[in-house]
Amino acid sequence: MADPIIELDRVTFRYEAMTMVFDLVVEQGSLVVIFGPSGAGKTTLLNLIAGFDRPTGGTIRIAGRDVTSQPPADRPVTTLFQEHNLFAHLTVAQNVGLGIHPGLRLSRDDLGRVSQALGLVGLAGFEHRLPRQLSGGERQRVALARSIVRDRPVLLLDEPFAALGPAHRREMIGLVTDLRERRGLTVLLVTHQLEEARDLSGRALFVEGGRILADGTIRDFLTNPPFPEIADYLG
Ligand code: ADP
Repeated sequence: MADPIIELDRVTFRYEAMTMVFDLVVEQGSLVVIFGPSGAGKTTLLNLIAGFDRPTGGTIRIAGRDVTSQPPADRPVTTLFQEHNLFAHLTVAQNVGLGIHPGLRLSRDDLGRVSQALGLVGLAGFEHRLPRQLSGGERQRVALARSIVRDRPVLLLDEPFAALGPAHRREMIGLVTDLRERRGLTVLLVTHQLEEARDLSGRALFVEGGRILADGTIRDFLTNPPFPEIADYLG
């Protein structure tokens, strides 16, 4: 078993309507798909790991450090949201460069890293385009390239491809898996479409009511769901 990179120990978070409690250990370099109904707590789980939400109890360790009270910027984590938030007036290269330097003072070396990241997401040569000159799928690839240049070992993906069509979504999921292997990243991916992750060998967590109700492999969930509720959810 690889070393754990993320460790959640009785991490508790409360909204008026629901108390969530998460216990989780994720191995370094693994892919974990998180699925479950709307309102189950999937986004909150990622927000707790990233530091956008602060738990009321429990501890969060990442890469061996207790980060429970650290702000997001100090955690070895990058999050890619569904909304890609590219700046319309900045070029593709500048938008990616923001992942290295918020002030965009980029050295020649930095620009090399930007181009390399664009190459990895299949956008070599797109450096000087503006976001409006790209398709939705291409814009999301730019956002992914920005996540890559940040060079953090944990990548959190919150339904980042939900706005794309099924074919593009599959392609992007393939791209992320490829990046994970090449860069040794640990990836947590929230999706509503477990079916689209069918080809991946990885772990899946079924979240419901603010808890991780089931923990298994993607393949097992799809072929032999452990609870009838999960079979119903998967249709
Ligand atoms: P999911 O990502 O699985 O759809 P979320 O983590 O977004 O679930 O939300 C889990 C629960 O927390 C939901 O019941 C939701 O209504 C509630 N919730 C989410 N954000 C807030 C908020 N800012 N204030 C109050 N309740 C919230």
